[in-house]
Order: sequence, then C-alpha cells, then structure tokens
Amino acid sequence: ASLKSGLLQEGQENSQEGKAVAAAAAEAEAEKKSKVVVCARCHSLRHYGHVKRPDAEVLLPDFDFVAAVGPRLASPSGARSLVLLLADASDFDGSFPRAVARLVAVTSEAHHADWKRGAPSNLPRAVLVVTKLDLLPTPSLSPDDVHAWAQARARAGAGADLQLAGVHLVSAARGWGVRDLLNHVRELAGARGKVWAVGARNVGKSTLLNAIARCSGAESGQTLTEAPVPGTTLGVIRVDGVLGAQAKLFDTPGLLHGHQLTSRLTPEEQKLVQVRKEMRPRTYRIKAGQSIHIGGLVRLDVEDLTVGSIYVTVWASPLVPLHMGKTENADSMMKDHFGLQLQPPIGQKRVKELGKWVRKQFKVSGNSWDANTMDIAISGLGWYGIGLKGEAVLGLWTYDGVDVVPRSSLV
Ligand code: GDP
Repeated sequence: ASLKSGLLQEGQENSQEGKAVAAAAAEAEAEKKSKVVVCARCHSLRHYGHVKRPDAEVLLPDFDFVAAVGPRLASPSGARSLVLLLADASDFDGSFPRAVARLVAVTSEAHHADWKRGAPSNLPRAVLVVTKLDLLPTPSLSPDDVHAWAQARARAGAGADLQLAGVHLVSAARGWGVRDLLNHVRELAGARGKVWAVGARNVGKSTLLNAIARCSGAESGQTLTEAPVPGTTLGVIRVDGVLGAQAKLFDTPGLLHGHQLTSRLTPEEQKLVQVRKEMRPRTYRIKAGQSIHIGGLVRLDVEDLTVGSIYVTVWASPLVPLHMGKTENADSMMKDHFGLQLQPPIGQKRVKELGKWVRKQFKVSGNSWDANTMDIAISGLGWYGIGLKGEAVLGLWTYDGVDVVPRSSLV
C-alpha cells in the first residue's frame, strides 16, 4: 500500500508519465487481487519472509534453493530446466543470487559443452534478468553497455564461467522488455520445460511474474493461478497459465542476503534506503583528508592522492542524506550525528545494533575525470562512482558483514 501511495503521489506532482506509472501500478494491484489465488501463508512467506501467526510473527530461515531445488534441476527427468536469475539494476551485486548462479554455472557449462559437441542435453540453463531498469539513468546509458556490464557482473558473482542462455533488461513497472523475456523463456523451455524464478527479497520478482502473466493472459485469456507445490519445498509455488499447457513456471521464495545492508534494517529504515525513482547522481570534488558519509551507513575516506582532488558521485536513495567533511572529524560525526541527522539508522541505539564499524582499503588509479574510473558498491544501498586522473588510496567504512564490491563503473 505504501508503494502504491508513493507512486500516486509522484503521479500527482509530476508528469503524465508519473500518472501512467500510477495507473499501471493501480491496475497491477487490481489485477493481482482479481486473478492470483494463493494461500495467505504462502503470500506472507514470499512477500515478508515470515508467517503471520496470531501469537507471534515467526521468522523463517532463508530459502535454500541449492538444497531444495538443486537435485530437481540435475535429475534427468527428460524435461528441460531453466533458471531465471534475477538481479536488481539498482543493487546488482547485492541482489544477484550468487549461490544459485554458482550451481547453475557448473551445469550450464556442461550443457554448453554438450551443445558444442552437437549433443543437446537436459541440463539446466540460466537466463539473467536485470529488473527495475527504470531506476538507472537510462537516457545516459547504452543498452549494449548495460547488457555487457550485467553479464560481466553475473560472471563475477557466480565466481565461475557462467554460460547464460540470455540476458534481459526489464522494467515491470514500465513494461520494458517483458514480452521479449516471455517469448524467450517460452522458446527455451520448449513444450515441457520447467522454469524456476530465483531472486533476493525485494528484487521485483512478484511484480515481474505478474507482468509476465498479464502479458501472456492478454493472449490466451487464461486466468493465472498459483498453487503451492505439494510435498516439496516450503514456499515454492507453481504459476499456471503462463507458459502453455505442459511447461511449468515455479516461483521460489525471496532469498535473504545477509550481506545486503537492507537485510539488517527495520522496515522504516528500509523505506529510506530503497530506490523508487530514477537514480540521480550527487557529485563532490574532494581532496585527501576528506570523507563522504551516506547517512549513518557508510563513509568513504580519501586517504591519499597523487593529484589535487577526485570526483566522487553518490548513487543512492535521495532520502538518505549525505555529508562531506574532514576525515579527522569522522569519529565525532559517528558519535554525535549517526541515527540523528545522519539516518538511517533511525535512533542512536540502532548504530550499535547494526554491528561493528570496519574499514576496507582500495587503491585506485585512473586517467580521466569525465568517465568514472570505478564503482565501489555497497550491497543493499548503492554505490560511489570514482573519477580521477592519478592514483588514490580510499578507505571505505561500513558495518561488518556488509558486502563492499569494487567493480567497473556502470554509469
Ligand atoms: P519481490 O520481493 O522480489 O517479489 O519484489 P516485489 O515485486 O514485491 O517488488 C519489490 C519492490 O520493488 C516493490 O516496492 C515494487 O513496487 C518495486 N518494483 C518492482 N518492480 C519494479 C520496477 O520494474 N521498477 C521499479 N521502479 N520498482 C519496481
């Protein structure tokens, strides 16, 4: 409900486009209500990661796709398996389902080898689906570049030679790429294939599956239904009426990624961190001895520089305040302002709860101020884009266990 009202507000104060998005969201909501039949427990599980009980809310452990579904992928059932690996464009490295990708990398490689030998196999294949593309500053990006970048990040995430049967850039909110994805999935699944949609919580899986179902429903006039898969895995749901009579689409519970900062934030704090509109850059020119805070969540120090200054662009939710200042004042910033002026966390008590404050160091060199030299991504939050001509030593502080990923720059 909060998202819907958020979208409606945007629609009211902004453009026609905003209105269209709000209308699409309202329509999606109505569509969901009218078509999707699913038990309350499954719904709770998938959307909130826990089951609501009258006495208490029970937190369930993370869904173990590898253990629960892995054996079914490998079994020579005669039916082709296809795994849709979902990753959020605004938090690619944090949301990418690495463990599942690693599993599929091994089999997809064998599959690839079989195909090269001219012996088609039933080993599972993988398709990368980058969701929420509308959150990226799309006018300044080339789809080919994003495509190549996403593929490279997926390979890095899988830590193995992941052979992808396809890469799709989509926005369920805008309807971008949904039909192409559906057509490709149908083609790859064939008449009797099994398709598994996998992704971290909040990656946009439900929204996408609903958009796909709408897209296919428009053609077939069929009603979408969902059914828990009996006798198997808790929370795996079969979505009927999308792929045809015999092929099957399975929706799996959202994965809980402990390395995503969002996983340790309260719902109220998450609202501040989640990106809902096209991301806008906030750029600073900074010198050695200066730091940039993103709320009370992370801090980047320029420890050493061979040139006068560097450009640092912050890509994160506009609801999270930034602060630039001298590194020597950083400790007192944390003590006096984290949880207060610098939110999230909301409240000073939460700072300790988020964990130990630790530093990672990066040595960076670049030869242009125009193009960003590299990104330092913070899982579940956003990234710093670094532009420099020369060499720099950077310190990145955040809570222990939150993934900090240096990567080639996206924007
Ligand atoms: P799930 O947990 O993976 O099923 O994710 P949801 O489908 O519930 O989506 C999580 C959040 O992302 C919700 O607030 C959605 O409205 C939002 N979302 C989903 N798809 C898109 C998209 O294409 N664009 C944008 N901007 N937001 C999206």
